[in-house]
Amino acid sequence: MKETILTGIRPTGNLHLGHFFGACSNWLKLQNSHEFYLEIADVQALTDHFNDPDMVRQNVYELTTDLLSIGINPKKVHIFIQSTIPEIAELTVFYSNLVTMSRLYRNPTVKTEIAQKKALFGNDGESVTYGFVGYPVSQAADITVFKGSLIPVGEDQLPLIEQTREIVRKFNSIYGETLIEPKHFISKTARIKGLDGNEKMGKSLGNAIYLKDDEDTISKKIMSAVTDPNKIKKDDKANPDICMVYYYHKLIENNNLETVCNECKNGTRGCVACKKELIKNMLEFLKPIREKRKYYLDHKEEVESILKEGNIIAQKKAKETMAEIRHNMKIDY
Ligand code: SF4
Repeated sequence: MKETILTGIRPTGNLHLGHFFGACSNWLKLQNSHEFYLEIADVQALTDHFNDPDMVRQNVYELTTDLLSIGINPKKVHIFIQSTIPEIAELTVFYSNLVTMSRLYRNPTVKTEIAQKKALFGNDGESVTYGFVGYPVSQAADITVFKGSLIPVGEDQLPLIEQTREIVRKFNSIYGETLIEPKHFISKTARIKGLDGNEKMGKSLGNAIYLKDDEDTISKKIMSAVTDPNKIKKDDKANPDICMVYYYHKLIENNNLETVCNECKNGTRGCVACKKELIKNMLEFLKPIREKRKYYLDHKEEVESILKEGNIIAQKKAKETMAEIRHNMKIDY
């Protein structure tokens, strides 16, 4: 029997290269060998953006279009919308009895995000909602309702998986063996650097290349990428290892990489020419994705029907698991 993967993505914006080389490249491999549920986590997006439902809804379709454009195959992956699975909300309520508040506040991922919110809003945490603190519980419901056994994550999300395991153990010890304790799977390239040299590419950091960016936007972004600050003149020798342009040459596997590296070190390559070469290669690299994206934008009804199909399959699985859970909790009236 195939192992079941459950993974999710919040519909708060379009996919960028950080997503593509981080999480998504793994999904493209895993979709061939696993039973794969891919959740568009709109309920989770609402924990942070509850006052902007239009943005979340619009991004459900945008994100699905992006996912299909990069090659997520809807015949192999069940792409579904979280809010169409009421069992997740039901299970979140049951699990909330199995987790203490202090345990949630101790969760390193929650702790970090609360600290970020406090820094952002400059208060003592009044902006932290009950729903936000409890999102690891809802994530445990996401995973377990589909009997997810393998969860692809970034290193910063490991505490969330550990929290799920604890909930599963507690549930099984009280109500009998019902749920599967999930394993995690860490991507080697989980974090992609931004054009500004920041360790992470992100929407809020303004340092990302999006799959939907047009040629002009991509060119402008690459022309402003951070290079070796010690290289002032064209013939200055430089260190490619601290240059974001070289980093992206490597990322998209430029065939000319050795020459780029040597010429940079020897001072025989100018940064403008180097950036232009990257622009050309990047546009070539993104071309098939952008073409596919255009197809799905012109065929929105296909995207909607893929989501509808995914929702139906996910609903069926969630109902089966929930029936078992209700039976074991003795609430199957
Ligand atoms: Fe970076 Fe290329 Fe300039 Fe070297 S020549 S610093 S690799 S942009």
